[in-house]
Amino acid sequence: MDEFGVIRNLSKSLPAPPPEVIAPIGDDCAVVRLGGTSWVAAADMLVSGHHFEDWAAPEDVGYKAVAVNVSDVAAMGGRPRFVLVSGGTPDPETALRCMKGVAEACEEFGVYQLGGDTTRARALTVNVSILGELPEPPMLRSGARPGDLLAVTGELGASAAGLLILQRDERAPERLVRKHLRPEPRVEVGLAAARLSVHAAIDLSDGLASDVRRVCEMSGVGCRVDLDHLPIAPDTRRISESLGHDPETLAATGGEDYELLFAAPERTLDALSRESNISITVVGEVIRGGATFLRGRKPVEDLTGWDHFSGPA
Ligand SMILES: [Mg+2]
Repeated sequence: MDEFGVIRNLSKSLPAPPPEVIAPIGDDCAVVRLGGTSWVAAADMLVSGHHFEDWAAPEDVGYKAVAVNVSDVAAMGGRPRFVLVSGGTPDPETALRCMKGVAEACEEFGVYQLGGDTTRARALTVNVSILGELPEPPMLRSGARPGDLLAVTGELGASAAGLLILQRDERAPERLVRKHLRPEPRVEVGLAAARLSVHAAIDLSDGLASDVRRVCEMSGVGCRVDLDHLPIAPDTRRISESLGHDPETLAATGGEDYELLFAAPERTLDALSRESNISITVVGEVIRGGATFLRGRKPVEDLTGWDHFSGPA
């Protein structure tokens, strides 16, 4: 069973939600309406040996744990506000270093830490729960319609290239390493997209190839994604090739980009591009039917992203 099997199973066992729940489990965040304001809520955990190894300093782990949660809020069109941070660490010094990273991220993203819990554990584990405010109706994964274009913010594959570098015990190019250790969630673009009524959004955590399928599944549509159009920076391309990886495949499946994927009509995406200081790149379109990935106009098979229950335990 993969992570989505577990979520499906869990969703089935939940009772009917109370009326305040606008969107239940199954999107980037749940949405609840309280006292006239809509809030998004999510939680995300980083585990040593699975999400990171010794190459990540505890400060980086703490920072990233907050950043990836902020990214889920951004994907809904929300503004991150509050976090609760819990974790297990082998010693108090690691806990303090990790919390330093948490505090840096909270300052960077304008988030206030309400509290949390710490305990002794064999390996560093951090869990962040986040609350964000929704100024507009949420962007859900389920809103994509045939005729929409698919577009991504920023660039793809830089984080995966950074990971390849770290795994070889190297630290350069520093820009790519930093992309992996300290992701930059797209909060402002997410807010603008919700304001412009973008039809659907998701943050790219597991890789475009699997995350776009999630949007299609939830929306009951298909897609055609052109891998030749993926925004890949020259340094990502160079490192990827020099380490024996195909850049387009790395960009589509590497994961942890924490960019946003949107489904929206062309004119909406044009308006978003004009408003945003981050590049917005059209990578495909929403169609009826299944998900197809093209390379030089030919279909590519077997593109998959990150599976949360594979890899080292
Ligand atoms: Mg997400």
